[in-house]
Formats: sequence, C-alpha cells, structure tokens
Amino acid sequence: MTRGLKQLCRGETGTPLRLGGDARCCSSGHTTKYGSYSLMDMNTGVVLTTHLVECNEVQSSAAVELEGLKQGIRFLEQHGLTIAELITDRHMQVCKWVRTEKPDIRQRFDVWHVSKGIFKKLVAVAKKPGCASVGLWAQSISNHLCWTAATSGGDADMAVQKWTSVARHVCNIHEGHGDMFPRCEHGQMNRQWVENGSRAQKEIQAVVQSSRLLADVRQLSPPEQTSYLQSFHNVVCFFGNAPVCCACRLILAALHFNENMANEQARKQDRAQRWKVSYPKFKKGGAVVRPVKESHTYGEFNSLVCNKISKGKSCMNHYLELIFYIVQAQSGAGFS
Ligand SMILES: [Zn+2]
Repeated sequence: MTRGLKQLCRGETGTPLRLGGDARCCSSGHTTKYGSYSLMDMNTGVVLTTHLVECNEVQSSAAVELEGLKQGIRFLEQHGLTIAELITDRHMQVCKWVRTEKPDIRQRFDVWHVSKGIFKKLVAVAKKPGCASVGLWAQSISNHLCWTAATSGGDADMAVQKWTSVARHVCNIHEGHGDMFPRCEHGQMNRQWVENGSRAQKEIQAVVQSSRLLADVRQLSPPEQTSYLQSFHNVVCFFGNAPVCCACRLILAALHFNENMANEQARKQDRAQRWKVSYPKFKKGGAVVRPVKESHTYGEFNSLVCNKISKGKSCMNHYLELIFYIVQAQSGAGFS
C-alpha cells in the first residue's frame, strides 16, 4: 500500500476519487509475458496502486489491460474508497466493462492517446494523391484537440464545436463554427491554407467529424491531468534495468514517483526559474519546453529497499525480500 493510499484510507480527503489508469507492457526478450496496470489519484498525482498481470492469467494479451484495471479497482474498493471518475485510453474492453459493470463511474478519455491517434490518421491520409498539405496540418490539428479539452471546462457540446471548427480553420475560414463557439480566438495568421472543397479538405473533414471521434471528444479529460501518467511510465522505464522482477520494479517506481512527484521547479542563483528544451519521441523532432525540477531524492526507505536487493537471486527471492522490508518499514522497525 503506498503512502498516498494510506492517507486516503484514513479519510484525509473524504471525496470520491478521480483516477487515471494506464497499462504498460513488461516484456522480456521477444515475448510479452506480463502487463502492468497502474491507477493514479488525479487530484494529488499519487500512484495509488499498480498490478502485474501474467498473460497466462487471461485469454489474450489484449485482456491484460482489463484484468489489471479490475484488480486495481477491486483493491481500492476493498479499502473503502469510492471512485467517481476514471481516465483511460479508448481500450474497447475497458470501455464496455466500465459501462456495464461500473455505471456509477464516469469514464473520460486521455486526450494524449486520442490526439496521438488523430495524428497517425492524418499522416496516413497525407500519403494519398493530392493530400500532401494534410501532412503540414497533422501536428496542428492534433494539438487543437489538446486545446479543445483544456478550454472547454468539461462542457461536451462546447468541446465538439471547438474541435470541429478546425476543419474550417484549415481552409482559412475562421467564423460560423456554431452558436457556442462562433469564431476562432487566434489573431492574424500566415499559414499554407488547404483549398476549400479539395480532396485534402474532404479527407481532413472525414477524420475530424468521424462519429466515433466526436463521441470520444465529448468524454475528453483535461490534458494537464494525463501528463502525470506519462511521467509515471517514464519512471517505470527508469527502473527498467533494475536487477529485480517486474513486480518489484513497479513497486520501486511507484515509491520513487510518489516521493518526487511534488518536487518544485528548480531555480538559478538569481532565483529565476529553470527551464529545459527536450525533443520527445512523440513530437517527431518537435521541441517541448519543460520546467527543470529540483533534484530527485531517494529517501531512506527507497534507498534501503534498493540497497537490500542484490543481484543473482531469483525474482521470487527478490519479491519476498522486498515484501519483508516493506513490512519492516510499515511496522516502524529499525533498519540495519
Ligand atoms: Zn481559425
């Protein structure tokens, strides 16, 4: 049980949870033997629980995600917590399960996953004859989805109008989008516009206005929330080479993430905030400006666990060893 979960169980928050959930493959060699599913409290950014599912436990590797989610929800409910909202990707089995088995939970979609899917579709469309200009707009249109989610305040109708306005915007038409969002909010722009009525314009419109996508736009989560989940998965990757089994790696990652997630932005000697430019893979060469956080800390508990896990033991031994030290730590026993 993580520290964040302990606090919630003690009733320190008292409000139903808003969770973000995501799966991750834990592959070894060429096979994917395990998958993990983690649930994060979106109000605090704390990883509450993370579950490892062996592919043999379920009928297919695609079912690992649903099984991990089920175990995570069951675990939280067993600790007396109620869940109001769940942010996930658009995994079909997960959507069906939440809709039928957990109707009291409001499911929303991770805007990052949805926008990534739109970008891929537009890049594919750009390869069709006469559609090269679509490629020039793929990133902007995908970014527009994030802006839509961030500025619609959870209003589904507003989100749809803002989103569909982009199909007109790319043709240099910036008015007449709808009664809730009548015109674009940007200033003067100098872009390579798509010709209205051209094949490229029709292809963009087909992607933007697909009925499945419009249904998903109505359920988008604000984008700033889901970046926490991506950060956690980066931490899991950081522990990827740790000489321990998948389960231990997940627990270590959650402990480390929870200890450092609230780190403040680092400052220079003159107290000015520090920023860095990075080039994440998903941006395909595009730059992102991010704050530099204060140095990570590896608290007494974390470092103890890390130090005690030595190389050359079987995964089960590692796991038992880790559990032993967690129990020791939670009981307040001294460390040697
Ligand atoms: Zn416009």
